[in-house]
Amino acid sequence: MTKEEWYARLFERLGRSKFRSGFHLTQKDIDYIHEKGLDTIRQHARDFIAQREAPAFIPNDGKQTPMRGHPVFVAQHATATCCRECIRKWHTFAPGVELGPRQQEYLVDVIMTWIVRELAAAEEKVAEETATEDAVTSQTGKVMADEAVTLQARKEMSNDIKRP
Ligand SMILES: [Zn+2]
Repeated sequence: MTKEEWYARLFERLGRSKFRSGFHLTQKDIDYIHEKGLDTIRQHARDFIAQREAPAFIPNDGKQTPMRGHPVFVAQHATATCCRECIRKWHTFAPGVELGPRQQEYLVDVIMTWIVRELAAAEEKVAEETATEDAVTSQTGKVMADEAVTLQARKEMSNDIKRP
């Protein structure tokens, strides 16, 4: 399986999970990402994975990732990279063994892929709302234009009447 095929299958499966697909970035998360930049967010993801997921033994495994408070935490729950049990189940890395640099980088990449997709979806939503507003505005414009035509017609009619 190529990387693209694996990612396509993974994100399709995540999308089908009611629990996983229920996680979304808040506007606050999005603002934070824009403020920090994606490179910094990726560095945060690297740190979280290295400190909270990579060790062979994690005393609070299953509870090490808060549900909110940082966009990477949200992304971790959405992508099942939140604890070693979820990582075992969804990404097939055995628990009880330290995660190597390539495994860690893969998890970071999954997290960042989800974040980028989430940002794109949020932007699309804004674009759709703007398009709806534009449609309403142009509809209003059309109605006003029609009224102007009617007024002009009435004026011309009354001119005709006045004319001897
Ligand atoms: Zn988990």
